Amino acid sequence: MSIQNSPEAIASLDATLAKADLTERLRLVSALGGRAVFTTSLGIEDQVITAAIGLAGLPIEVATLETGRLFQETVDLISETEERFGITIAKFGPEQDDIDAYAAKYGLNGFYESVEARHACCHVRKLVPLGKALAGATIWITGLRRAQSGNRAATPFAEYDAERNLIKVNPLADWSIEDIDAYVESQAVPTNPLHKRGYPSIGCEPCTRAIKPGEPERAGRWWWENDEKRECGLHVPEAAATPIASNIA
Ligand code: SF4
Repeated sequence: MSIQNSPEAIASLDATLAKADLTERLRLVSALGGRAVFTTSLGIEDQVITAAIGLAGLPIEVATLETGRLFQETVDLISETEERFGITIAKFGPEQDDIDAYAAKYGLNGFYESVEARHACCHVRKLVPLGKALAGATIWITGLRRAQSGNRAATPFAEYDAERNLIKVNPLADWSIEDIDAYVESQAVPTNPLHKRGYPSIGCEPCTRAIKPGEPERAGRWWWENDEKRECGLHVPEAAATPIASNIA
């Protein structure tokens, strides 16, 4: 297969991926040519993809965004995962000058005060590092699932990301949380201990809290905002976010 961005080619790729299992989906996209990058937040979905890449030895780069505000449990899981699967996870962080400018304008924790301030923080700590992680990439692999939230209910297996000019692939789009748990169990995949403490979705420490029984999986992310706006900018076009963009894991 070769990389084509036409709507017909993307639709064909989407249909092909729909019929394959996870490892085959990843194998297919890694064979498209160019540079395939998987960005992991170390969340349970992303750990499944990392495991599939590592266990099959696929030529897919694994990268993470070290925002500087992660839980220690998440930081510790990076090295544990590298050892478990014999891979290197590339780390991309924010620029100190950008952090200083943000703190001067909004305060270090200014993200609680307004959506604009929160998006500005995500821009500095997530979107800028994401841009570095995806520089030169032709394929971006993510752990998005349709069942994670209403925002993600229509997630395709493959789509063209015009803003970044690459093909975005979501190989877990149709997986349930039960599918995820079964894979983790069967492959002894290391996971963040916070999952067992009520955190199904884990982002930066100051912006993530445990959820109550029955709440949606992502209810603990930016919980002080309303549902419609609760993404960080990684998976929505910058123009569709706020003046200062922000939506990734
Ligand atoms: S999740 Fe919170 S701490 Fe992390 S980059 Fe976004 S606003 Fe900043």
